[in-house]
Amino acid sequence: MSKTVLPSGRVQPRFAGICTFLRVPQVEDVASENRPIDWAIYGVPSDAGVTFRPGARFGPRAVREASQYIKPYLIEQGVHLAERLSIADAGDAPVNPYSCRQTLDGVAAFASKLGEARQTRLLAIGGDHSIAYANLKATWERRGKPAGGLAVIHFDAHMDTVDEVWGEKWGHASPFRRAIEDGLIDPKSMISIGIRGTLNDPADLNYARQHGVTLVKFDEWRKGGPQALAAFVSRLAKRETYITFDVDAVDPAFCPGTGTPVAGGFTSAEALEAVRSLRGINLVGADIVEVLPDRDVSEITATFAAQLMAEILGLSA
Ligand code: MN
Ligand code: MN
Repeated sequence: MSKTVLPSGRVQPRFAGICTFLRVPQVEDVASENRPIDWAIYGVPSDAGVTFRPGARFGPRAVREASQYIKPYLIEQGVHLAERLSIADAGDAPVNPYSCRQTLDGVAAFASKLGEARQTRLLAIGGDHSIAYANLKATWERRGKPAGGLAVIHFDAHMDTVDEVWGEKWGHASPFRRAIEDGLIDPKSMISIGIRGTLNDPADLNYARQHGVTLVKFDEWRKGGPQALAAFVSRLAKRETYITFDVDAVDPAFCPGTGTPVAGGFTSAEALEAVRSLRGINLVGADIVEVLPDRDVSEITATFAAQLMAEILGLSA
């Protein structure tokens, strides 16, 4: 059983030392000790793909900072992360602030080299949602390019399946359209939860619907959504599954620090409960995106994202 060597919060205070995600060791340190790595966490400080308010490029640093107070034992899941998993911080992927496409290529290349292809799962912290494409691509390739693609559990106020915006096909409105086109994910094994608010055009929902994505609008979530998610998960059985979490799935009252806020979403407690309910899935990768520290208040959003990271890791322990 692999473990993570963490500095004790009772020896080295949580506000001291070099700031890594969840205070886990850096990838190089783990690799030099020849330990396996179950999860490589890395930041993608890119917001080249945003359509509205920029600033998610500062997300990884804010989430790293907020994660210092996250302790290794998860009360609700009954899981001790450090006892059950070897987790390492791989730093930040290379980005080009002027180019979505070059950023995605660079991120996928960086992620492809982390740890061992099958043993080491990838948890990416954005950055805007465009970066999900790169982490999905790297994950799909590392799993041996499963035919039909990965299953996806997607939390978001938005579908992110728009073809292009201002000629840009790789921005944060489009990652799942590109991932479906490229066979990285299976739309019939994808569920999008928390969709709500307004659209430029109702036809923006057509692509996902026509390709068989299961869509759970937030109003539907409130009327039996958890049961629908449980049924979806049981249909997946042990299918390789990826979680992508856009913090704007959560109500801006609970996650104000994000670039495209939509009123009327999850409370943070509801969102964490929904993620905890996924215990038992065959989780092969994940991302958390759209934390925008400049709009955050008292680190509310970054604190949520840090807790979410721990809960997602816990699902696999
Ligand atoms: Mn999104
Ligand atoms: Mn969104």
